[in-house]
Amino acid sequence: MKMLLANAEAWPGFDTTVAQLKDGGAGLDAMVAGIAKVEREAKVRSVGYGGWPNMLGEMEFDAGVMDGTTRDVGAVGAVPATLPVSALALEVMRNLPHVMLTGAGARRFATERGFAIDETLHPDSKRVWWERLQKEMSPEQLAAFPDIALAPLSNAITDPERVRDTTVFLGRDASDGIGVVTSTSGWAWKYPGRLGDSPIVGAGFYADSRYGAAACTHTGEMTMRCGTSRSIVLALRLGHSLGDAVKLAVEELGELTTGFLAGVVIHAMDAKGNHKVVSFRCEEEIRYWYWDERMAAPELRIADKA
Ligand code: ASP
Repeated sequence: MKMLLANAEAWPGFDTTVAQLKDGGAGLDAMVAGIAKVEREAKVRSVGYGGWPNMLGEMEFDAGVMDGTTRDVGAVGAVPATLPVSALALEVMRNLPHVMLTGAGARRFATERGFAIDETLHPDSKRVWWERLQKEMSPEQLAAFPDIALAPLSNAITDPERVRDTTVFLGRDASDGIGVVTSTSGWAWKYPGRLGDSPIVGAGFYADSRYGAAACTHTGEMTMRCGTSRSIVLALRLGHSLGDAVKLAVEELGELTTGFLAGVVIHAMDAKGNHKVVSFRCEEEIRYWYWDERMAAPELRIADKA
């Protein structure tokens, strides 16, 4: 059964992916086509052009793709000046012997593959970034910026609860191939070079067409420590139901007591046609998009609370 599951940010591209899946398109290509629209939509204030810069006011994008039939993966992290980065992750998967590129090397590869150098800092993101940073800096820091220690500021300002999110698409195509694609600008005011979980296979995403797929949003610093997406797919392989597999991953997140702890949202599907979206420690109501081939149109649904 053809299926598509994505988080609420997916609205600009969800229908594009559904249309391509309906037409028999390959899952990863269909999902990258949809996410590319999300990345270029300025109204989506967490991904691509509408996202948020790092502490230096520079956009750094993370993305990942996984083909659950071959377990091939492509990922890019801290990439400047490039849209759509999910398409760049797919290029890494298809054209290099590597799984992940970061920073300047990823941008170099983007140029080799024909990606333009994009202006990616939204004027409103620039304004908010600088206003917030200014408030936190002493006159001495302000005068010397950016040649100052950023870590104390990063601890004070980085605000994953206010401005951050990722778009995640998990899909099953006409050949029963299950795949997953992620894209984000990461946390606002993150320390330069910080990677979240979105480009980290096993943490932010994982797919195996025989069992299912999972992808996470919100606090990557937690899902990276637990290998959350891989845990879920491994639990499916070991015979657990989708509900139990997600419950196990939530338990592991709940066992963390140190480090940065906040909310996580898990999106998961199994190869039997079930899906589950669960929010853990998120105060706000979490919504997600779902479509399968039995449905006339995609639906925006409310996630369960863990
Ligand atoms: N998980 C992403 C990260 O840690 C951000 C998010 O989805 O909110 O960069």
